[in-house]
Amino acid sequence: MEKKLGATILETVLGDITRERVDAIVNAANQSLLGGGGVDGAIHRAGGPAILEECRKLNGCETGDAKLTTGGRLPAKFVIHTVGPVYRDGKHGEPGMLARCYRRSLEVALENGVKTIAFPAISCGIYGYPIPEAAEIAMKTVAEVVRSNEGIERVRFVLFSEDVYRPFETALAKL
Ligand code: ADP
Repeated sequence: MEKKLGATILETVLGDITRERVDAIVNAANQSLLGGGGVDGAIHRAGGPAILEECRKLNGCETGDAKLTTGGRLPAKFVIHTVGPVYRDGKHGEPGMLARCYRRSLEVALENGVKTIAFPAISCGIYGYPIPEAAEIAMKTVAEVVRSNEGIERVRFVLFSEDVYRPFETALAKL
């Protein structure tokens, strides 16, 4: 599904983010930036060792922040590594931290001339965020940022399975 907001297209697709031909893909990393499972493992496997080499020099990343490396052997030019919150009960600042991941990733993208960007469902795997809530936060935050900034042409949410795709599609439809 896709929707136009001002000059930006937001879209949801089912797929593997490592195959995306966009300027930047976002990685749902951990604070060490030294590799992990899930989408992080897939990105490092597909992109090769150059990404990890660059990550070693970044001194980790705080929850809610985002840092950029090249894309190594990936079709994407850059990887923007962000660290989502581990979900406890939703009352420990998780919604704000998750929103900040999307906002900071887009800010880093804009600073680096990125026009097309793909996001995974940050925190929706190992970090356990309830998917419908995460999807609403993702869409609302991205919509806010693109409404007040020119430069991003396309934001694609690349969801790895149907059970994650559907809530993201619903959240996009509600915008
Ligand atoms: P987190 O630790 O932030 O929860 P995970 O990597 O465990 O990060 O999961 C985030 C989401 O990424 C999950 O929905 C998971 O299914 C999805 N995912 C895993 N591999 C890929 C991939 N290659 N492309 C896109 N999404 C992926």
